[in-house]
Amino acid sequence: NVNKSFFHKQKGTLKVLDQINVDIEQGQFVSILGPSGCGKTTMLNLIAGLEKEDDGEVLVNGKKINGPGTDRIVVFQESGLFPWLSVIDNVMYGLKIKKMPKKEAEEKALNILKMVHLSRYKDAYPHELSGGMKQRVAIARALVMEPDILLMDEPFAALDEQTRMTLHKELIDIWRKTKLTVIFITHNIREAVKLSQRIVVMGTRPGYIKKEFTVNTMQSGIMTDNVMFDLEQ
Ligand code: ATP
Repeated sequence: NVNKSFFHKQKGTLKVLDQINVDIEQGQFVSILGPSGCGKTTMLNLIAGLEKEDDGEVLVNGKKINGPGTDRIVVFQESGLFPWLSVIDNVMYGLKIKKMPKKEAEEKALNILKMVHLSRYKDAYPHELSGGMKQRVAIARALVMEPDILLMDEPFAALDEQTRMTLHKELIDIWRKTKLTVIFITHNIREAVKLSQRIVVMGTRPGYIKKEFTVNTMQSGIMTDNVMFDLEQ
């Protein structure tokens, strides 16, 4: 029962989320689909603890969240890497803040970089990487913190089709290996169908949960014409 409004100087109070109810199981890969402005990012930010709901509750493992936590890490559309740090230092950054000994942190970061196929680039700097590589580093930087929930806000939207397909495959492999809960925001129906076990469709003005689909053909990218038609409506 989450509600959220923003106040605009010109427009007054804008209700963005209206009585949102979603229940996501541990280990599920769920996509949130919906038109621009329906409140997808706002919902993700509420789960991440980056925004606060006006009323209602966001519960993680049965407990009401109180701000951000390393159990929930967001990967944004822009990688947000620190340009002055090498790839491995970017990945190790959060571990350093957690005061993990350097050797241990380095080992961990290297293992994760292997997972995203970037070991060879550990000493490179962000400006030397392609968009897809930067997103891989951003994913590695999130995974190294061992979150329970990986929140992804259109992480591949800025990438070309081929890179996006490669990253889809890598993300599915990571999800299978780590058994993470993934909440993935996209406007792209095909991407949602391809990646997720479940799709939550949001409607707009103000944002509400319009429909939910279970993707039975898990990660096969195939859905019946009826469901595709429903999603497109
Ligand atoms: P898109 O797909 O275009 O990213 P979205 O579904 O993620 O859109 P949100 O970014 O959650 O939608 O925005 C929903 C509405 O809330 C928009 O009208 C936006 O202008 C408004 N909004 C979001 N964040 C704020 C904020 N911090 N202050 C004021 N208004 C905001």
